[in-house]
This record gives sequence, structure tokens and C-alpha cells, in this order.
Amino acid sequence: MQPTMAAAPPLLASHAAVRSLAVSSTASHRGRLEGGYPPQVAALRRGDWVKLICGASFEDAADVRNLSLVYTLAGVDCIDCAADASVVGAVNEGIEVAASIVPAVQRPWVMVSVNDDCRDLHFRKAEFDPEDCPPDCSKPCEKVCPADAIALDRVMIGGKHPQSDHSCLKLEGGVITERCYGCGRCLSVCPYDRIRAMSYIRDPATTAELLKRNDVDAIEIHTTGKGTDMFNTLWSSLGVSVNNVKLIAVSLPDVGDSTVNFMSAIYTTMQSHFQGYNLWQLDGRPMSGDIGRGATRETVSFAVHLASILDRPPGFYQLAGGTNSFTVDCLKKAGLFQSTTSPGAPSSGMTGSQQAFIGGIAYGGYARKIVGRVLRKIPAQFGHARIEDHPDYLLEALQEALTLVGPVKGERWVGAAADFSEGSRAALRWAADNLLHTGDHHLLLLHMIKDPNYEQVETLFWEATGSFLCRCHWSKA
Ligand code: SF4
Ligand code: SF4
Repeated sequence: MQPTMAAAPPLLASHAAVRSLAVSSTASHRGRLEGGYPPQVAALRRGDWVKLICGASFEDAADVRNLSLVYTLAGVDCIDCAADASVVGAVNEGIEVAASIVPAVQRPWVMVSVNDDCRDLHFRKAEFDPEDCPPDCSKPCEKVCPADAIALDRVMIGGKHPQSDHSCLKLEGGVITERCYGCGRCLSVCPYDRIRAMSYIRDPATTAELLKRNDVDAIEIHTTGKGTDMFNTLWSSLGVSVNNVKLIAVSLPDVGDSTVNFMSAIYTTMQSHFQGYNLWQLDGRPMSGDIGRGATRETVSFAVHLASILDRPPGFYQLAGGTNSFTVDCLKKAGLFQSTTSPGAPSSGMTGSQQAFIGGIAYGGYARKIVGRVLRKIPAQFGHARIEDHPDYLLEALQEALTLVGPVKGERWVGAAADFSEGSRAALRWAADNLLHTGDHHLLLLHMIKDPNYEQVETLFWEATGSFLCRCHWSKA
């Protein structure tokens, strides 16, 4: 099914703040384009590529559309989604709406995700029959699901009965299949072992058709690292269709000492008939970025492992699996954030010359969580809401998205506090001249109101810091 063209939203005056925020971000990205490469490849070379992962199995088109819109405005380089025509259509619709609000925005590449092996956890759906559930179950599955993919109602069986009589109750509902992305958290919390995981493989023939579309730019092949046979089978089924896209990503876990041999074998297979760019997605701890700080360690450890191996296969390298707001700091501590390859280490075989070893970061569950919180606030009466119809929520969602995209793109938020005095005006001018860099995302101006003890406070502040400037640490969990 081809995507329907998005109706351009009315350009509301209230989109002005969204436009201004997105334009400042876009402008700072544009100043750093490298000649000769598509902007997405230039980002990979610099190490500031950001990919939004909608989820290889997440097929809620309304959410995918809104997420794509918000993260396009935030400046992502790529949006990765399920290899399904309606989901691809939803991503492209989100991108088109973003471009109608901010015409200067960069169109991200659209990537479809497929698997060569049904054991890959990204390609499964939870399933259970609520009729098999004890009616008095406290429904931990519903509470633990990060995608709101389980909805259960406790209902009376015919007529009125006392609430305490569980024999007259039953559960209705179950898994909302299109929202389930296979994280598996419900499986482990069900006290009655009622939930099954149903695995599947994306059909290569359908995928080959998708790759012919003008609005699909890349493919990602998930592989388990347990042998090359299944990869080779999928590769030959896709045939020459792979040459319709600009980039092929291979997502794999760290399988220890055999990882590099496995990657090299796959690279040899791909080289046989593909002329585009290739990327290795280092999948640390799949589908866990929203769980907490520590989830990001595995993908960074994977990167450290590969950085120590000089004969690793050519291509761009990118983190995924457990990535969240701590990933950039973790990469910096490992000395791998936007650092270029060491002399003698391979650069991308497809592009040559020096480039960042880690080309960027893909964000999935965490990216969806921080924007999803805003999407859930849109009043239910609007049904499948188009976020652009609610500019205040769109602005809030964009601010959330930028907390993730901005640090990779190298943008900073600078805060300055001032009052209306001559001294503050001079200080503000000094801060603008000396503290702001090209590409800084925002100057936050805090207006301080003098209190009756202003002189005393000012004196104390000066004595304590030796300066009239206060360094602002701005962070968001
Ligand atoms: S597998 Fe994950 S996303 Fe799917 S229903 Fe269970 S908890 Fe929700
Ligand atoms: S936790 Fe298990 S038994 Fe309880 S409602 Fe969920 S699926 Fe049913």
C-alpha cells in the first residue's frame, strides 16, 4: 500500500514557537555539512548521526506518525520502523507534516527493519487469552508494559453480583497487537505463566517490494550472530532490491571472540552486490533504554570491544540497545564520543578517509517514552490525535526530543540570569559575546526580581563566587 499524502496542517500562529525551536536546531546542523556527502552520511562521518527507532515490531501508525513528526523537527538523521507498508506511510506522513511546519528541516532517511532469524527478540509479539486469566489477578502484565500494549477490564458475567464474588467476574481485552514490540517484560511478571511470545520473520518478498519505494532509503537486517547461513539466505532472497537503498545496516549483539569473524563473513556476502553505505548497529541490551541509567553500558562495552580490534570490517558503527540520556556521557568516559579512528584502523570501506569511529546513536524505547508521555497527555476525546493540532503539546514534545538529540548534535543550552540593571545588561552582553558558541541551541534568560535585600544578596554572591556570573547546570532525567 502506498502512503497517502499528508494534508498540510493549517499553519497556526501558535506553531511559531515550534518553528523557532526547530529552525534554530536545523540552522546549527546545516553549518556543519561536509561537501560531497549526503547530510546523513556527513553526520555519520562526524559521529553525530541520530536515529529514531520506532520499533521493528511497533505498528501503531498514529503513534509512529507523531513520533516521526516530532523527531524530524528535532533533527534526527534517520527513522527506523517496521517493514510494513502502512507503518512506512505513517513515518513519511510525519516527515511531510514536519516539513510543512518547518520547510528548512532535513528529511531523515527512512529505514525498514527486518530479521534473518525468528530468534531475534525484536520480532515477536506477546499473546494470551484473557479468558484463561484468574479474574482476581492484579494484572501486573498491564502495569509493566512500556508500550501500553495490554488493556484489560474486569467485567461481571451476566447480571449483578457482589464485587467480592470472583466466580462472577472475568477479564476482557488482552494484547493490542500493533502496539506490542516484543520487549518480553510481561512474560516474566505473569504469575500464572499465561503469556506466550509469538516470533515471526518478515517476508523477504514484501521487503523487496518496500525497498523499491522512493520514500524508503535504508534497510536494517537484524541478525543474532549465531551463524551466517540465515543471513545469506535472506540476502539472496532480497536480491538486487538492496541496490534501491542508500544504506544497509546490520544489527547484531556482541557474541564475544567470534563477533568480528561473523561480521567479516557478512561483509563479504554484502560486498558481492551492494554499492551503498554500510553500517553496523551494535545492539547492547535490546529494548531496555527506558529502564534506567545502567542499560546503556552493554552497547558502550560492545563499542569498546570493537575499538580494540584493528581488523574489524569496514563501515560505519552506531550504538543501540539500552541507549538513553546517559549514553553520550558513557561514550565520552570511554573516549569514544565523536573520536576519529586511530591511524591504521579501518575507515568506512565505502567512503575512505578519516571519520569518527562511532558514527552515532540510535534511540528507541527511551526516545518513545519521553515523547510518548506528551502524546498520552492529549485528551482522549481527540481519538488518534494529530500532534500538530495541539501546538502546545507539539512544542513540549519537541523540547523533550531535543534533550536526546541535542547532546549528540553538539548543541548546548546556556543559561544566564539577569535583572534590569545596567550591570546585568552589560553582563548579558559579555555572556553572549564570550560564552555562546555557533550552534548553541538556546540562551535561557532568567529574569531575577530584586528583593528588599538585593544589595546584600549581590555582595554575598560576589564574595562567594568572585563573579557576577552563575554557571547553570541544566539537565533532565
Ligand atoms: S512484550 Fe512488551 S510491549 Fe509486548 S505486551 Fe509484553 S510488555 Fe508490552
Ligand atoms: S498477569 Fe498473567 S494472569 Fe494476570 S492478567 Fe496478565 S496475563 Fe493474565
